[in-house]
Amino acid sequence: MAMRTQTSDFKLENVYDNRLSVVSRASRPRVSKASRLRCEGQRPSTRADRMSATRFHTRSQGPSFTLPFLLALAATVLWSCSVSQAALRGGCSRIDITPPLGTTLIGSKGQPSDTVRDDLYAKAMVLSDGRTTVALLSIDLLYTALEEITEPVRAILKEKLDIPPQNIMICATHTHSGPEVFTRSKLPPKSRVPVSDLAQAYLQVLIRKMADSVIVAHQGMQEVKIGAAVGQVPEVLYNRRPLAKDGRVKTTFSLPPEVVATRRIEPAADGEAKIAFTLLSDGTPLEFGGVDPRVYVLRMEDSEGRIVGSLVDFGCHPVSIYPHFSTAVSADYPAFVTRVVEQAEGGVSLFLLGLAGNTVPIQRGAGPCAQIGKAVGGQAVRQLQFVATSDDVALNARSRQVAFPLKQAPADKAETATLESITTEIQVLRLGDIYLLGLPGEVLVEVGREIRRKAGIENLIIATVTNDTIGYVCHGRAYDEGGYEAEAGASLAQGAGEIMVREALALLGEIK
Ligand SMILES: [Zn+2]
Repeated sequence: MAMRTQTSDFKLENVYDNRLSVVSRASRPRVSKASRLRCEGQRPSTRADRMSATRFHTRSQGPSFTLPFLLALAATVLWSCSVSQAALRGGCSRIDITPPLGTTLIGSKGQPSDTVRDDLYAKAMVLSDGRTTVALLSIDLLYTALEEITEPVRAILKEKLDIPPQNIMICATHTHSGPEVFTRSKLPPKSRVPVSDLAQAYLQVLIRKMADSVIVAHQGMQEVKIGAAVGQVPEVLYNRRPLAKDGRVKTTFSLPPEVVATRRIEPAADGEAKIAFTLLSDGTPLEFGGVDPRVYVLRMEDSEGRIVGSLVDFGCHPVSIYPHFSTAVSADYPAFVTRVVEQAEGGVSLFLLGLAGNTVPIQRGAGPCAQIGKAVGGQAVRQLQFVATSDDVALNARSRQVAFPLKQAPADKAETATLESITTEIQVLRLGDIYLLGLPGEVLVEVGREIRRKAGIENLIIATVTNDTIGYVCHGRAYDEGGYEAEAGASLAQGAGEIMVREALALLGEIK
């Protein structure tokens, strides 16, 4: 059975190879605007270059040139500097945020931590085109909360670096083995965590360290070029909302090994894939839904082509570790993904969670966790080789407030329903022709698929659990089909997914 699975995977790999080679051929050659400018005798890129160029002109023209000539030359150089667009600058950093042992964990069984499997990090990427600066934070937490974490971090960065709040995006990696650091104030009262239960001292240090990682990345900015690429890893995940014959979802959080061995991967024309199984245990035929198996990468390299930092975006729930190690601090499989990339390429690698609301690892535990990391990290390393980079990149950022109606409690439990809606934020960072869409909450793959289909943007990277926590964001049909995400997992009323699609498209339309 295992051999059959491997044979099937091999064929699929060839399919993806062909598709990816098209991507590679379509890639633009690396053209540096800075080098073009230098060739054309315009503004040199760096201060050192500018100084050496000025010296070259001065020396080569010899002593026959008069002071007025040199002043005129200097004025010309200064004018040239003032009208040219500054070259793209960027930097990355990472700061350890591992909580002290004893800190209560969230996403697992709510127990205090007693060991550390992976250090947790706040990783930052900062870019500036000379007019606009944007900052991206990847943080090893289950969520970030808008009022409790995101806004305090943004306030520090506004004060220290004068970066506007809407230019700062904070993306949780959604590890289910991280510290409990938010009250979940937007959830129904019964789901909230009392402030007294939070490790306040750690929370305050965490906020400072998150801001510090951006400050350090900002201090290290240098001239860079960036570009994006995409690959696929369909082998490691599945959609946990299969449909039974009656049209209802039978939530399937995990699969026994004998069922995993029946897996079939069916690539779809839209770049997604259907991962199907034969359930041998009770013979119930279930129809498994689609997943987004894409691995998006962004490469940031210095003027010599050496990697400074990278982004890796993949949509599968980081839930490998906690079922087996419920008291261990861990960054789950994203730790392995970024470790693979950093060991192969250097620099700082930031993980962003894609459309993972209803997709989970095909197997769990320490072994499968490392396997996902190597598979996704390996695919990311591969794609990072074929990125067409440029420093001719204009930056822009937008965010908007969005209100989502909440489910209303039945009349006999009306005292628990205190709010009719919650307001949160969606955000877009535009990096030239690359759009990074930040969505709050655990967004189901069907919602993201609708955004992609209607946006028609080639380089659209979607990062979920970004800036805020609002629970699951489901498409309308999910509420009729039932299952964990739309029932116990969702505070938002039916229609939430459609609101998110509409608002995301409007925001992308504003910034296009
Ligand atoms: Zn989750």
